[in-house]
Amino acid sequence: MKKSKLIIATGFIAASMLFFASCSKDKIEVNTLSQPLNNNLTEASVAPSNMVANQALVKFKTGTSVGARNEAFAKISAKMEEFIFTKTMEASGETQGLYLISFPAAVPQALVALQNMPFIEFAEPNYIYQHTATSVDPFFTNGSLWGMTNTSIYGTGANVAWTNNHTGSSEVVVAVIDEGIDNQHQDLSSNCWNNPGETPNDGIDNDNNGYNDDMYGWDFDGNNNTTFDGANDDHGTHVAGTIGGISNTVGIVGINWNVKMVSCKFLGSSGGTTANAIKAVDYVTALKTKGINIVASNNSWGGGGFSLALYSAISRANNAGVLFIAAAGNSGTNNDNTASFPANYSITNKYQGKTYAGLSNMIVVAAIASNGTLASFSQYGAKSVHLGAPGVNIFSSLPYNSYGSYNGTSMATPHVTGAAALYKANNSSASAATIKAAILNSVTKISSLTGKCTTGGCLSVRSF
Ligand code: CA
Ligand code: CA
Repeated sequence: MKKSKLIIATGFIAASMLFFASCSKDKIEVNTLSQPLNNNLTEASVAPSNMVANQALVKFKTGTSVGARNEAFAKISAKMEEFIFTKTMEASGETQGLYLISFPAAVPQALVALQNMPFIEFAEPNYIYQHTATSVDPFFTNGSLWGMTNTSIYGTGANVAWTNNHTGSSEVVVAVIDEGIDNQHQDLSSNCWNNPGETPNDGIDNDNNGYNDDMYGWDFDGNNNTTFDGANDDHGTHVAGTIGGISNTVGIVGINWNVKMVSCKFLGSSGGTTANAIKAVDYVTALKTKGINIVASNNSWGGGGFSLALYSAISRANNAGVLFIAAAGNSGTNNDNTASFPANYSITNKYQGKTYAGLSNMIVVAAIASNGTLASFSQYGAKSVHLGAPGVNIFSSLPYNSYGSYNGTSMATPHVTGAAALYKANNSSASAATIKAAILNSVTKISSLTGKCTTGGCLSVRSF
């Protein structure tokens, strides 16, 4: 199969390989990738290990000449790695696109030099994001999907919706921006999206979205159409099972028995970058704009600092009516005080002297345990996090027809994404705003979440 001509490989190697490899599957992964809120308009610091070394994303002001651009790059001996100009950017009226550049200097020094040039709109790090979950030991074999049940008030009560024959719809599509999804898994295969505009393996971009043979989605990390790459796609496969595990005689079941899930793989073995996150978000927006019935993207990942480039991409999703459902993070901290991204794009951010309004398409999710407590690792925020959802001992699908139990706000988030799809299945004309309101207005208020999130409650889909 041919690769898309639109995207050039970023050359991103393995800046965070050690970090990823050191993540034990036996303990709760700590999201170390947050930063202080810069309320005083001072630049918050982000550890160099949380950005791609010697790289930056640069946007030029409208009308900047090629000569001025080359002069800017020459001043820091920069080389262009990739020009990112997605169809979604073009459709939104963007004219400049983004340059991913590399240079010999350290990132902070290069950014200062770039930001002092008059024709630079912005220059920012190419952050590295990590997923926000890991497994616990031992795997569950007793099928205790507490998050789906009505056994306690803390479960989502999905089984109540199911008894009303509200089990989702194959007409409803969600995107999983994550690792890949095992689309041959016995509990996932028929709920994995097939691009109706694409002819398989003809090497042609039939639907003209910039990606050849994107049958199941796209692998933005590997820049190919093979969205499932094996056992390391466990996190994405686990998330998918919670949203849309098939109801059958094996394994698990998701919030939706029927749904279609687009695999937008941007997390690879060493995490994912801002450059690839933007392309993934814009890919989903473009599908929505083309008429694919995409309700939401699931974003169980985090890291880095404020990125105007990523903020802009999520804003384009907002304009297209796609919900962006995000994990609060796993550092146990208060997001109102210590910003975590992408979660905190939901609230006002101050960045380099300007104010950026919170994005209304976002839903930010904390994790609760089966006894209703806020998970010890879960980040929270009375202003910046919306609700809690099951995120401890969550049993779901893993690659090659296996299963396992993971902890994390990563696991809480797909319960909410699943809820958005379930609501849409039964309310086909509902807008993103209506779906968000339905989710937030139907929470079960619990004392452990009082003052910890805007709703003070946990997800309930009993009435969906
Ligand atoms: Ca295509
Ligand atoms: Ca691949």
